[in-house]
Amino acid sequence: MTVVTRFAPSPTGMLHVGGVRTALFSWLYARRMGGKFILRVEDTDRERSTDEAVRVILDGMAWLGLTADEGPYYQTQRFDRYGAVIGQMLAAGQAYHCYCTKEELEAVRAEQTARKEKPRYPGTCRHGRAPRPGVQPVVRFRNPAQGSVVVEDLVHGSVTFQNAELDDLIIARSDGTPTYNFCVVVDDWDMGVTHVIRGDDHLNNTPRQMNMLLALGAALPTYAHVPMILGPDGAKLSKRHGAVSVLQYEEEGYLPDALLNYLVRLGWAHGDQEVFTREEMIAAFDIKDVNRAASAFNPEKLLWLNQQHMMRATPATLVPHLRAQLRRIGLDCDDQALLEGIILAQRERAKTMKEMALNSRFFFAEHVEIDPKAAAKHLGGGGRETLQRVRERLAGLGGWSTEAIHGALEALAAELGAGLGKVAQPVRVAVTGAAVSPPIDVTLALLGRERTLARLDAAMAAGSGA
Ligand code: GLU
Ligand code: ZN
Repeated sequence: MTVVTRFAPSPTGMLHVGGVRTALFSWLYARRMGGKFILRVEDTDRERSTDEAVRVILDGMAWLGLTADEGPYYQTQRFDRYGAVIGQMLAAGQAYHCYCTKEELEAVRAEQTARKEKPRYPGTCRHGRAPRPGVQPVVRFRNPAQGSVVVEDLVHGSVTFQNAELDDLIIARSDGTPTYNFCVVVDDWDMGVTHVIRGDDHLNNTPRQMNMLLALGAALPTYAHVPMILGPDGAKLSKRHGAVSVLQYEEEGYLPDALLNYLVRLGWAHGDQEVFTREEMIAAFDIKDVNRAASAFNPEKLLWLNQQHMMRATPATLVPHLRAQLRRIGLDCDDQALLEGIILAQRERAKTMKEMALNSRFFFAEHVEIDPKAAAKHLGGGGRETLQRVRERLAGLGGWSTEAIHGALEALAAELGAGLGKVAQPVRVAVTGAAVSPPIDVTLALLGRERTLARLDAAMAAGSGA
């Protein structure tokens, strides 16, 4: 049997880390089992669905590299099919028209509540009722009245529901539009979904969906209801905890692999391994090993993992990310070698690609703004004389490499009877504008001779009051 999983988001809110984790589990399981992963947009709630939310789903999944083998399907494009199945169920007596009015149902509900009973449809039209003029009927599914439904959930274990607790669900509204639970059933059936992996807020829908699948003669999928992600304070994950559009993580300079790595480890473990490549995740993942307890979102750990991934990636794979971040701050660079060099020089000092881009602005700026504090500390006293000497050495240097620059600066320091720092700091401040940067030889090598000399000149000129 080929495993078929799906991710079925409703575009009523922005795709955030909670949804991404569900998508990841479905995707991973399909990849692990050599199966198929489907993307299905559940946009039947036309009022609350937005194009923007659909775009975030599509762009977010693409950014994360959670590629679908099929889809995206849109439920709003499948209304004919839902209508056909409803007709078929009506003809087979598996569904029936309900002519109860809103007022009638409200009266029943009030009585039930007064008796402290759980409000439920009393089955008034279940055994046939004549059409009533002026009432557009809804269609209800004829749920079995007796027995129970057992969900053998891969995460929650066996969960039993009594049919007597499940009333006859509306599958089509009076305007004919199908309802959410029904569309899911038809889709999972038509798309041959074998494993339904979704948030455990849907566990209560499952027995109803199973009853409908059984009525249709469909094979039941296996279910895995994964726990929710909570905020660091244990409350429901909200915007203030980072439940923002997944694309915001791209903007903030997170790597997709790091975000996926972080999310897979929430409620799932493989020994004590923390850092996983995509391939390692696929090889080690099993949905059965997912914890049933909710886990809390920890932005600090995500940040840590992001840097781990930045440190382990080949510079070439990080180049597109750095370019994109530079472009965000108005810097366009397509010099592959330079970008790779900057990545190697900067990644220890940045936790995100955005931070790396911000720290690297000086490489591209026409003119560096020198931090006054750094200038006061390192360009006063003998600082400018040092710059003059350095300038002479560097101007006459045979080759422009890290080694050659290092050698020249070290020789100069030795002649001056000073430590390398005494020579390096004024140079650093002059060329980067700040007192912190990657090693000075690496920095100058990347910057190039021309820019280095021009910046030394500018710093000296600024100091002479010119
Ligand atoms: N559309 C549902 C949601 O976004 C998921 C339904 C399902 O996975 O069955 O919560
Ligand atoms: Zn009725």
